[in-house]
Amino acid sequence: MKILVPVKRVVDYNVKVRVKSDNSGVELSGVKMSINPFDEIAVEEAVRLREAGKATEVIAVSCGGAASQETLRTALAMGADRAILVEADVELQPLAVAKLLRAVAEREQPRMVICGKQAIDDDANQTGQMLAALLGWSQATFASRLLVDGDAGIQVTREVDGGLEMVAVKLPAVVSADLRLNEPRYASLPNIMKAKKKPLDIVTAAELGVDVTPRLRHTHYAEPPARKGGIKVADVSELVRKLCDEAKAI
Ligand code: AMP
Repeated sequence: MKILVPVKRVVDYNVKVRVKSDNSGVELSGVKMSINPFDEIAVEEAVRLREAGKATEVIAVSCGGAASQETLRTALAMGADRAILVEADVELQPLAVAKLLRAVAEREQPRMVICGKQAIDDDANQTGQMLAALLGWSQATFASRLLVDGDAGIQVTREVDGGLEMVAVKLPAVVSADLRLNEPRYASLPNIMKAKKKPLDIVTAAELGVDVTPRLRHTHYAEPPARKGGIKVADVSELVRKLCDEAKAI
């Protein structure tokens, strides 16, 4: 079975994000960008399935500018077999990405798409669900365990508010990876070198016939309010008094 893994280029999770001085967006110039961490987990899961003989090919796909090739090379270095860049130079919102991924899925005919549960830049948590709806496929979101039952179905353990939920899902399906699904491997230097030679195809959104015009307009970005510093109290009775008198007023 072929597995498609959508990977997004996002601001690295170690970077302290700053809002632009005119509040029109987030400062991206000179900022370290990386593969979305949940997508790294999705790539790892797909590669493990191929290594276990349960998948035949892992295809990484990224939608965005030319720089997203770097993100695809990371996925290739982790073990993906080939990559597709869907090039678009406008801001891509989740619905546009879902439509682009549907077009790629219709061309490639994978049995499963494993995406991240959310992108850490927009925290939208929408693309996988929209993709499943557009394709009319089953979906299993927030996966912390994934078992493949031959070519017919999969069993997914989902992380839900009250605990864990086990679902049996018919293929084809879209699965979204949660944090505890696995621990992604580090790409070794030889694999980084090998990844440079793996196939990376480029298509444009127009070639896929998808209108990616943004539907939402961002009006204003702002930093969260600065947190006030803590205080020290002399003893427990002062702490209790403050909790009773002052915390109540907040
Ligand atoms: P989101 O709905 O934006 O939180 O993203 C959820 C998941 O959809 C991500 O973890 C990726 O797997 C996938 N995704 C979102 N945007 C893109 C993109 N531009 N290119 C490829 N995959 C994406």
